[in-house]
Amino acid sequence: MPKHIFITGGVVSSLGKGIASASIGKLLEAKGLKIAMQKLDPYINVDPGTMSPYQHGEVYVTEDGAETDLDLGHYERFTNSPIGKLSNVTTGQVYHAVITKERRGDYLGGTVQVVPHITDEIKERIRAVSRGKRYDVVISEIGGTVGDIESLPFLEAARQFRQEEGRENVVFIHLTLVPFIRAAGELKTKPTQHSVGTLREIGIQADILLCRTEKRLSKDLRSKIALFCNVDPEAVIEARDVRSIYEVPLMFKEQGLDQVICRYLRLEYKAGNLNDWKKDVVDRTLYPKYQVTIGVVGKYVELQDAYKSLYEALRHAGIANDARVVIKRINSERLMKGSLEHYLSKVDGILVPGGFGNRGIEGKIRAIKYARENKIPFFGICLGMQCAVIEFARNGLEMKGAHSTEFNKKTSYPVISLLEEQENVANLGGTMRLGAYPCEIKKNSLAYEAYGAEEISERHRHRYEFNNKYREDFIKKGLRISGVYQSGKLVEIVELENHPWFLACQFHPEFKSKPDKPHPLFKAFVQKALELKPSGSKKEADKKPEETQEHAYETSTVK
Ligand code: GLN
Repeated sequence: MPKHIFITGGVVSSLGKGIASASIGKLLEAKGLKIAMQKLDPYINVDPGTMSPYQHGEVYVTEDGAETDLDLGHYERFTNSPIGKLSNVTTGQVYHAVITKERRGDYLGGTVQVVPHITDEIKERIRAVSRGKRYDVVISEIGGTVGDIESLPFLEAARQFRQEEGRENVVFIHLTLVPFIRAAGELKTKPTQHSVGTLREIGIQADILLCRTEKRLSKDLRSKIALFCNVDPEAVIEARDVRSIYEVPLMFKEQGLDQVICRYLRLEYKAGNLNDWKKDVVDRTLYPKYQVTIGVVGKYVELQDAYKSLYEALRHAGIANDARVVIKRINSERLMKGSLEHYLSKVDGILVPGGFGNRGIEGKIRAIKYARENKIPFFGICLGMQCAVIEFARNGLEMKGAHSTEFNKKTSYPVISLLEEQENVANLGGTMRLGAYPCEIKKNSLAYEAYGAEEISERHRHRYEFNNKYREDFIKKGLRISGVYQSGKLVEIVELENHPWFLACQFHPEFKSKPDKPHPLFKAFVQKALELKPSGSKKEADKKPEETQEHAYETSTVK
């Protein structure tokens, strides 16, 4: 039977619970333990697939095609935990299952209630993660903040779970805030006391506290928190703001968090270390030799979370190229008219990510034209590829008004359109082309140069496709089709002849990039941007990582 860790959050949201959870996973893996990670989300949507990035940030796609919370991306980037459909449980899924059973008559004669029916269903899903497999520890992160009405059933299920599994098999870790009050010049523990108290009212005593803070916690303050919150002093862990998210496991390890967890869970002590992670990921992130600027042209650029995996994948490519990747986030709506110089002349590479809906589309298409004509390295992903195809049709093939039928159903040149199987889809939730599909790579292409393989597999999340009707016209004019699905049934990668690096793919490579295993396409793109440096800015990185907080990488939005 595996041991279990539940991670809750208190005081405010956005304290980095996902990264803290992933870091704990990393710590335990470094000890040779086999872990599985899971996120329990209290919203009623069955999955975040139908939510806007403004509501939810990025929708992370798993190998098996689940549309999930972006924290699962952190789990996959930090650990080797398997991630799939079972890894993200929502209130929507739980109620859906219970109501389906009720209609079937499974509870015949009974009143169906939150306790025990909903909580049983939640516990079942926590157990399902490890059923039939051998894990040492299952880590379940509970979304939301303690005190929210909607997370109550999950907390109650976790409380019951510990009761059933025994104290030595379940640990509760609570992430909380210790704010620094500038006027008083002091760190304050009261919000932490309150949130630990709220948990206790529900019947959960936190075992370990991760205290998010901008200043160091003194020994006295730790003792005070320990005393008032009823935890051991060594279980009060400081979670200071750090320069790179990849430093968090090191910070926890320094304070012996892994030892405390193992002691509470009666796991055999194994030393383990994070030396490779420090050397190959953290040090290379903080002290790169070179610097390169990539412009990301999208419509959700003002949000930190909307292109999470994409920004991380660019940083991983930076690690691989010994470079700091400065990300300029450019709102595509600002590129709809006028000169693009102000926005794009100072970047070394242009990336257009995935997206839905018409807003800002023409700005993306103009940015792609700029990249094509000025021979700036270009990388298009999903909608980014579709826009590249539209741009080439309009300006390279003189197909005036060419478009995707997503945006103009009546276009005379539907170069991107729906497959027949998608035409009849009535329900929008979970019905896109989702998850991993194989892709054949043609030799003599940028894709082959990057992957070094003729068969790859990548994750998808889209409904529209390259329209094969125009395939030959495109090829004649210099569009290389370098990646296809099922011997050509679907176009997966396109490239431009007569351009130093112009590649666009229908899949989402960002979901498979890891800091210690950067994605080949991102790596090649950043490498080319660095090599060519079309912006003409200097290549060497400034040596001041101490000044950049939270991320060792700068991102800025161009106004
Ligand atoms: N909106 C496009 C489609 O559905 C692209 C999707 C995406 O970029 N993820 O095909």
